[in-house]
Amino acid sequence: MAHTAELIAVGTELLLGNIANTDAQMLSEGLSILGITVHYHTVVGDNPRRLKEALEIARNRADIIITTGGLGPTYDDLTKQTIAEAFGRKLKLHEDILEEIRGYFEKRGVTMPENNTQQAMLPEGCTVFTNPVGTAPGCAIEENGTHVLMLPGPPYECRYMFENRAVPYLMGLTDGVIVSHNLRIFGIGESAVDEKVHDLTASSNPTLAPYARVGECFLRATAKAETAEKAEEMLKPLMDEVKRRLGDAVYGTDVENMDEVVTGILKKRGLTLSAAESCTGGLFSKHMTDLPGSSAYFRGGVVSYATDLKHSILGVKSETLERYGAVSEETAREMAEGCRRVCGTDLAISITGVAGPDRDDRDNEVGTVYIGLAHEGGTICKKVFAGFGRGRGRVRSSAVQHTFDLLRRFLLELPLN
Ligand code: ATP
Ligand code: MG
Repeated sequence: MAHTAELIAVGTELLLGNIANTDAQMLSEGLSILGITVHYHTVVGDNPRRLKEALEIARNRADIIITTGGLGPTYDDLTKQTIAEAFGRKLKLHEDILEEIRGYFEKRGVTMPENNTQQAMLPEGCTVFTNPVGTAPGCAIEENGTHVLMLPGPPYECRYMFENRAVPYLMGLTDGVIVSHNLRIFGIGESAVDEKVHDLTASSNPTLAPYARVGECFLRATAKAETAEKAEEMLKPLMDEVKRRLGDAVYGTDVENMDEVVTGILKKRGLTLSAAESCTGGLFSKHMTDLPGSSAYFRGGVVSYATDLKHSILGVKSETLERYGAVSEETAREMAEGCRRVCGTDLAISITGVAGPDRDDRDNEVGTVYIGLAHEGGTICKKVFAGFGRGRGRVRSSAVQHTFDLLRRFLLELPLN
């Protein structure tokens, strides 16, 4: 039987607008990958009567109910009690869970407050979801084919508990296994991707679904079969076809981001890199140093924000700056070359552009960015229009993504387009 899910977020702070219901977004995305349809999102305050009402409505129209929040030790955390009552169950003390919670506090050198005992009280006959990333355990109960899963509210805990506890539980409700892969795309807009693969998104097993993120979109291919091997077999032709249609815009499968792809190549080839940044103010270098072990391939760089520093530190010629301006192909090239010289690296990149909010003194549009890349055999430069000029943050982060894409294309000898 196909399952239908409803999400109930519990928390008055959600209703007051203090926080956004990001747990629901994460859960909905995760459930859709499992092929479980979500029909409703409900938000209810920390109020037992209204939570009971919400549960009554949900159990009449869904067979999987997932609640978030209200599992903590404080007086307003009423989810478990209320659900237990609504489903005619008592709460039972779980000694082993109490020990775990005690241990959690001991590791931090504090005595467990007495009210945390409450967190070890779970509905009779439930499946316990132990929580190694927080104190509140979750659980699931089943009543006449309706499953109620209770997850903690803090987003990090909620995600962990969903991926490691709820997903295996839900997979147990259906026969077979579900395997999915994430195809990451850069440089083609969401609608253009859709246009190219639209016909492939119509099939039901395997499925292909597009997702959009800021500045990027990706495709998730999912298959359900008796075994993981069979699911992989079903996925392969679909993924090959997507790659054939989208070409080198697909930069990776099941990777975190493009940073991972590029730094992986640098590491493998033993190449070093440095960066001369202007409008990104060090953001590219931050990305490069985010990953552990980055010192193996990233030496550092220069944030040459002021025009005269481009000359005094990086050696960009005064006449270049005067004639073409700070935001120009000529300056980007000389910045990269100077950076490579100063830092003594195999490769050096440069980023110079207009972050906004206004056009620069040469009337370059907001979002105009030149990216240089100096290497042993010469220098390349690419002009991009970053972040569609939508605010400084977007221009900068998009400029960084474009820089990683330029590096990827150079290193893999792909067209720079
Ligand atoms: P705790 O043990 O931390 O009390 P809990 O399961 O009782 O966890 P809540 O007390 O309801 O959860 O919420 C704790 C915090 O988690 C909230 O202050 C909020 O920051 C965050 N949170 C709760 N629900 C959501 C949600 N649906 N989406 C995003 N964040 C949430
Ligand atoms: Mg709480």
